[in-house]
Amino acid sequence: MSTTPVPAIEGWFTVEDQPHLLGRHCPRCGTYAFPPTVSWCPNPACDGEDLETVPLSRRARVWSYTDARYQPPPPYVVTTEPYEPFAIVAAELEEEHIVVLGQAAEGLTTADLRVGQPVELVLETLYQVDGSDHLVWRWRPVAGGAPPNGVEGSGR
Ligand SMILES: [Zn+2]
Repeated sequence: MSTTPVPAIEGWFTVEDQPHLLGRHCPRCGTYAFPPTVSWCPNPACDGEDLETVPLSRRARVWSYTDARYQPPPPYVVTTEPYEPFAIVAAELEEEHIVVLGQAAEGLTTADLRVGQPVELVLETLYQVDGSDHLVWRWRPVAGGAPPNGVEGSGR
């Protein structure tokens, strides 16, 4: 049986080979925001209300990362029983320079991550219901990408 991929959260990202997060952009001051549920400009110095929904950069750099040692509350969906910790990445988007949280891609732990490391947006299956793969975005280190000089985060 083949599965039909659907977004686990409708309207937050595009489902395609080169997926994009969908953010909000204020044409008045240039501010970007994510998630796309914001209805007015988050810039306190701007009273823009006509935000447009735009695709955000697929590329980012690791701004910080951590281990989710405790099971997050709903709407997090429990996919492993017992709960297994996973790595969370705070990624600074290449163009917009806003920081977007997401899980690290399947199989990665904090040992695989470095501050400053280039990452890209990927879609992976969060859970399956009724033959549908419910997809979520995750951050995956770019193959061959090395952290820039001077911001090595490992301390080794
Ligand atoms: Zn604005």
